[in-house]
Amino acid sequence: MNNNVSKNLTSILICILTAIVLSSAVFYYVNADKSAEKKYSEIVNLFKTDQVSEFELDLSTGAMVYKTFANPDAQEKYNVKSVTYFLEDIRESVNDYNEEHPDNQIVYNYKVSNSRNWIISLLPTLLIAVLLIVGGWFMVKRMTATMNNETNRSIGFGKVRTKSLSENGETKTFADVAGCDEEKDDLQEIVDFLKDPKKFTELGARIPKGVLLVGPPGTGKTLLAKAVAGEAVVPFLSISGSDFVEMYVGVGASRVRDLFNQAIKKSPAIVFIDEIDAVGRHRGAGAGNSNDEREQTLNQLLVEMDGFGTNSGVIVIAATNRPDVLDPALLRPGRFDRQITVNRPDAQGREDILKVHSRNKPLAPDVNLKEVAKSTMGFTGADLENLLNEAALLAARRHKHAISYAEIQDASTKVVMGAEKKSHKYSERAKKLTAYHEAGHAVASYYLEHHDPVQEISIIPRGLGAGGYTMYQPQEENYDSKNEMLDLLVSMLGGRVAEAISLDDISTGASNDLQRASQICRDMVSKYGMSDELGPVVYSDENNEVFLGRDYGHVNNYSEATSARIDAEIEKMMRHAYNMTEKILREHNDKLILIAETLLKNEKISGEEFESLMKTGALPNKEENNAVSENKDDSAENETTDNTDAENNDNEINNGAENEESEESES
Ligand code: ADP
Ligand code: MG
Ligand code: ZN
Repeated sequence: MNNNVSKNLTSILICILTAIVLSSAVFYYVNADKSAEKKYSEIVNLFKTDQVSEFELDLSTGAMVYKTFANPDAQEKYNVKSVTYFLEDIRESVNDYNEEHPDNQIVYNYKVSNSRNWIISLLPTLLIAVLLIVGGWFMVKRMTATMNNETNRSIGFGKVRTKSLSENGETKTFADVAGCDEEKDDLQEIVDFLKDPKKFTELGARIPKGVLLVGPPGTGKTLLAKAVAGEAVVPFLSISGSDFVEMYVGVGASRVRDLFNQAIKKSPAIVFIDEIDAVGRHRGAGAGNSNDEREQTLNQLLVEMDGFGTNSGVIVIAATNRPDVLDPALLRPGRFDRQITVNRPDAQGREDILKVHSRNKPLAPDVNLKEVAKSTMGFTGADLENLLNEAALLAARRHKHAISYAEIQDASTKVVMGAEKKSHKYSERAKKLTAYHEAGHAVASYYLEHHDPVQEISIIPRGLGAGGYTMYQPQEENYDSKNEMLDLLVSMLGGRVAEAISLDDISTGASNDLQRASQICRDMVSKYGMSDELGPVVYSDENNEVFLGRDYGHVNNYSEATSARIDAEIEKMMRHAYNMTEKILREHNDKLILIAETLLKNEKISGEEFESLMKTGALPNKEENNAVSENKDDSAENETTDNTDAENNDNEINNGAENEESEESES
């Protein structure tokens, strides 16, 4: 885009320069014979004193040539500025002279300049006109180019370019969507309707106008919408909510109008509005001023949705991961009155998705997609696709002809934790802190009854804020019992406690652990009614959480006193868990030191090695140990338990997803 603009600017500049040079040349040419330096009064005086013998005057340009009696051979030039005044000034003298000397008269001739001169005198004006036109044209071109770049899909203001999926070879069907069987069932009705609207209208059935797909990012909402269009073989008109929110006021609203006009023309058709929360936020809410442009767009959307008839063959599908911020008006009957929740896939779903995306990827025989699916709890469809892609890239880098289990495992860690940053150097002290921190998590978890076994410990930095991590092998999908949560608290605090008791210092590395632990405590007390002190009462209201678009003035539905009791209870729980953790780690301090020192030496400990270290105090077997540190593919292949999932304690990036997941699974 920048390139384009500067190119246009230079061409405009060149035009202007050429025009200036040309017009000044023309002016110079036209006025060239001004060179006669005589004054007007001198010339008039020549006539008055009867010195002029002959002259020729161009009546249109004022150019005059004349001869004098004194010097009959020299032809002089003069440019008369105002021909009218000049003629008046000289008429008398000329007439007088001719009367006085009837046989020796002034020879004179008046002429009107030819057309060539006339055009030349107009040239500057013409040039300026041409220049203006060219300049204007460039400006318009530049503006449209900018607009197209900004909105990608738009052609000009307020227009929507719809693309046909089949043209792009992008046609999707339900076969491309794996593991969303319930969602597909719900949508099948829509497909049937689009295929044969008559069948439904004849029976007087009312088909929903709008379907709202709700779910976390990457769970396949866009994919599902495309698949509906593909299954029904109808046009798919799509636009993203963020496309609407433009800097040009009124553009969003006219785009909505255009979109629906096109859809009705092409019906049966699907209008897909991605990220509808960008435009459909609660009106008049949010911090600061409300966005008029957005409200206008939203109002237009509501008008359009009410405007077309129930069975006109247009179905609006919208997708969002923030249904809570949507304006309630959008969810009223006749609008998006049908909601379909697209959840993160379960183990079976993940296996199906893996199958879909491994279709064109050669897998080594040691890859068992069922096991991979089990170990990737919480992954979305997009994560799984990413995982297989990363694995394929790794396999290529390792010069393998098929993707083996080792690549899948490494890719899985990479997807969850971010890439390893071996080059990142940190001080010996920081390394030691990290080693004891992670060892603390692992050792504490080992002595807990309801805790998952360790999958991998590493102190190789990954991603942004992750100094190291301890991953566990999940044994079940949900952690929803009180004992499981209490154990989770203890293992989370393991990092901080280990730092405190071994190195007599504490680091910021534990802040994320503490934050998550506090959240678990708060949920246990106020959401799940798990505290003895406060009893089985729910004090938090999911829908009243403060979101960007909503409810700054939310009032708790409990008193200040209760709020204080909740805080006291949380603190009590945390202290209790902390003391338990400290007791475990002090009792097994030798193990803590062993694991930490092994980490400092090898940087990584696998689940198997951890078991062996905890039981026998040594790594499983010397040769294998070497193999492990050189090339851990082998160790991965030897692993008997394939359940791997991330319990990333220190990873800031993944924090949001993790919280979301635990909220979901624990509610
Ligand atoms: P969303 O719109 O919910 O954010 P997308 O539909 O854009 O998610 O999904 C992103 C990608 O993830 C898809 O292009 C697809 O490759 C993959 N994906 C997600 N869910 C599934 C699924 N259920 N089956 C197959 N692929 C999926
Ligand atoms: Mg999407
Ligand atoms: Zn930690």
